[in-house]
Amino acid sequence: MEQSARNYFDCNATAPLRPEAREAILAALGRPGNASSVHGEGRAARALVEKARGEVAALVGAEAREVIFTSGATEANILALSPSLGDALFVSAIEHPSVRAGGRFATVTELPVTPAGILDLAAAEQAIARAQKPVVSLMLANNETGVTQPVRELADVVHAKGGVLHVDAAQAPGRLAVDMKALGADLLTISGHKLGGPQGTGALVVRNGLAIEPLIRGGGQERNRRAGTENVAAIAGFGAASASARSFETDAKRMIILRNRIEADIRAATPRAIIVGAEVARLPNTILVAVPGMSAETAIIAFDLAGIALSSGAACSSGKVSASHVLAAIGLDENLAKSALRISFGGETTENEVESLLNAWRKLVPSLSKARPDTAEQRARSGAIAVSAA
Ligand code: PMP
Repeated sequence: MEQSARNYFDCNATAPLRPEAREAILAALGRPGNASSVHGEGRAARALVEKARGEVAALVGAEAREVIFTSGATEANILALSPSLGDALFVSAIEHPSVRAGGRFATVTELPVTPAGILDLAAAEQAIARAQKPVVSLMLANNETGVTQPVRELADVVHAKGGVLHVDAAQAPGRLAVDMKALGADLLTISGHKLGGPQGTGALVVRNGLAIEPLIRGGGQERNRRAGTENVAAIAGFGAASASARSFETDAKRMIILRNRIEADIRAATPRAIIVGAEVARLPNTILVAVPGMSAETAIIAFDLAGIALSSGAACSSGKVSASHVLAAIGLDENLAKSALRISFGGETTENEVESLLNAWRKLVPSLSKARPDTAEQRARSGAIAVSAA
């Protein structure tokens, strides 16, 4: 049977591998050598790891020695949230589950967000005021809504209190400028596979002079901060992807054009659709759209059969479609939250793919959302957060 064309709109779950990353991985796979060995093969492996470390550091305006390679953003987040840094942990209500779990802190205080999906700074300042030395975690851009967060403003509040700020930037590189110093981040998380590197790669960048407790012990790798033989090929791919993601401006401009086009067509085809965060600053590649009366779970399957890969709110641990904690924190009605689809794309997404997505939308969504008319409450709610088609 001939394989029909696929159209990938789930880049926030995993972005396609960049060609530069593929090349670097394949080249590294062809060589033996443990990066800790002193012989020539070992030194060659070490050179690949250190080249990648420099590339990852340059991506976020850090120094190479501040970069700790991890198995991904999940591990980096847990490594970051170390009680050696302070006495109380605060995280925004829309963080990734790996942050909300609190790392090695026994208790976690959640900081609320506004209906637009942005951290409520005043509430955050009030909550933090009660701690002696707060450790605070705020993402740079939300993975479900794409909404960017007031990291710099929060950094000033946290530092005035003598605290430490961790920033989960997993969704940002390749889409936004990320400069650790400009952001005021003391610790910063990156995920390799969200920026076109291989899965199972990531990094925690730790500002010089800040001591974190290792999570994985039993070896001196990563300056005693993460034990275990380095995955040289994957790290080389992560480095190459990071170098490529530094020049993101052209991609970002294109993505905004595609985003505007997709949103305009969706609004025309489904006037009741609600684009979450449409009125505030967002990632250029992310659209979260709720359609009253539709089941996202059913819609994802229908789109998949039509050759379109999409997700509902959070798809990181796929297979489960449960109500999104992000949409609950924003205050979206539960039924509306269960109707939300996430469309996320990349610099490589073509006009043809967008056309296929929109054709499928026009064909599928009116009937998928017809079965269950929206309630008065949903209509009121959508009025509160929607930017109308007009
Ligand atoms: N943080 C955010 C904001 C994410 O979107 C994700 C992945 N969905 C993660 C952390 C976890 O990343 P990884 O898959 O690299 O562990």
